[in-house]
Amino acid sequence: MKIGILALQGAVREHRNLLCRMGVETADVLNPEDLNGIDGLILPGGESTTVGKLLVRYNLLTPIVEQGKKGLPVFGVCTGLILLSKHINNSEQYRLGLMDTYVERNAFGRQLSSFEADMHIPVLGDIPFHTVFIRAPYIDKAGDSVKVLLSYQDKIIFAEQDNFIAAAFHPELTNDTRIHEYFLNKIISM
Ligand code: GLN
Repeated sequence: MKIGILALQGAVREHRNLLCRMGVETADVLNPEDLNGIDGLILPGGESTTVGKLLVRYNLLTPIVEQGKKGLPVFGVCTGLILLSKHINNSEQYRLGLMDTYVERNAFGRQLSSFEADMHIPVLGDIPFHTVFIRAPYIDKAGDSVKVLLSYQDKIIFAEQDNFIAAAFHPELTNDTRIHEYFLNKIISM
């Protein structure tokens, strides 16, 4: 199995290192050709307006949308969650728009803009997952086809729809591989 990591900007290395520790081959995605031969794609955290513009500049926006619609599994983290969303509140920024979600950027307010917490995520079992939020978005509304995997303060922060997964927090900044495993298992079961 080979996992592509969108490598235009942001926390690319952290996903690469985590997957490497799990024994999974990775490929940096910088050009449309890099999408060939990957079994799944990770969209790392960064800054979503910047990554959106770079997706256009590097001719990657349309190819990723097309592959996503054809069933390529995509896991979006933070900025990746924003880019996957069809609706971004009060913003016209570029996006992939593959998930039926409404997101609010930088949504946890000033004091809470970066925080960490142990959370119980039912699909991962009983042991809590250490969640790291950095100027994180949340999903404040989602269509019926979106499965909520975790909410916090009544907002959706981990969700799944068809071949897409989106997390508002950064699992690559912990040593816990369970969310990446969840993504890999999803790929295997598809
Ligand atoms: N606040 C960033 C944005 O709007 C996301 C932050 C992150 O990816 N950690 O794109």
